[in-house]
Amino acid sequence: MAEGIISMAHLVSMPPPPNYQVPQTTFKADSSGRNDKIFVWGAPPAGTWRVGTDIASEVKSIPIDWMFKEYADLTYAELQGVRPGMRLAVFISRPMPVQWQRVSPYVDVVSDKASTQSKYKRISYYPLSDQPTISSEKFEKALELLSSNLIGQAVLDALRDDVIVRLDDSSASAERTTSGEKRIWVNVQSDGFRPGFGVDELLLHELIHVVENWYDGYEDRYNFQWDKTDFLTVTATNVYSCMRGRALRKDHGYLPLPNPHFKDPKLHWTEQRPNYVKAGRSIPSLVRIMSRIRNVWNPFIYWG
Ligand SMILES: [Zn+2]
Repeated sequence: MAEGIISMAHLVSMPPPPNYQVPQTTFKADSSGRNDKIFVWGAPPAGTWRVGTDIASEVKSIPIDWMFKEYADLTYAELQGVRPGMRLAVFISRPMPVQWQRVSPYVDVVSDKASTQSKYKRISYYPLSDQPTISSEKFEKALELLSSNLIGQAVLDALRDDVIVRLDDSSASAERTTSGEKRIWVNVQSDGFRPGFGVDELLLHELIHVVENWYDGYEDRYNFQWDKTDFLTVTATNVYSCMRGRALRKDHGYLPLPNPHFKDPKLHWTEQRPNYVKAGRSIPSLVRIMSRIRNVWNPFIYWG
């Protein structure tokens, strides 16, 4: 079993396949969006477990301790908030301090619907199930903004793989599945109050992760934290944001870019030079295009 967890329970699709006592690591749970049900084999005692994602609050899980005549070893859970792209598992709670421990393999949640093709050929997406039209419009608008900008266009042009975007209402992230599928979550409800958190900025950031193939060699320097992966995502998005008249972000946290670095991009370049060199190797085409963009905050003009 992968990832070194103790498999005590596992999820079972509906209806259960003949060999449901054996964990199926690859089955996909369909999601209709509301009150989905899923079977659980080997469920722990009532009140101590949930089915959901790694984030405990993301999916509301109502475990039902009900024995089926045909399947005496299965119980089930009703789930609210399940969306395509999530990975579900069974978790048990450990007291003091309370924390959830995963006790089953993950299963992928898929939608029975096909994803929507965006205007950009490599990108398709799943709208928010409770507001498909509004979320699609926000996403298409963000994609439009990117494709009308030199940096956004350079990132879109550098995409070599199809990307499936899950429109989200809480966070943004990007991941590569074991099968190689590139997935992005974008919070289309983001009001963009924080620097870097406009919907288009979130999308650009996550697309750069995909193009960089999650490169993780950046180093924290001069009190700027990049979490190994987030130098080019944040810094290229900053140049983009400045072109759009938006505020700039310091690093992978929530703070704005400090004033000395805002006033003097060369200071940023000097302090972060090893990261700029790595960024230039990571996406040469993007950095080359950025090195020619003038009249905005842009340390990439010193690159080369
Ligand atoms: Zn990131």
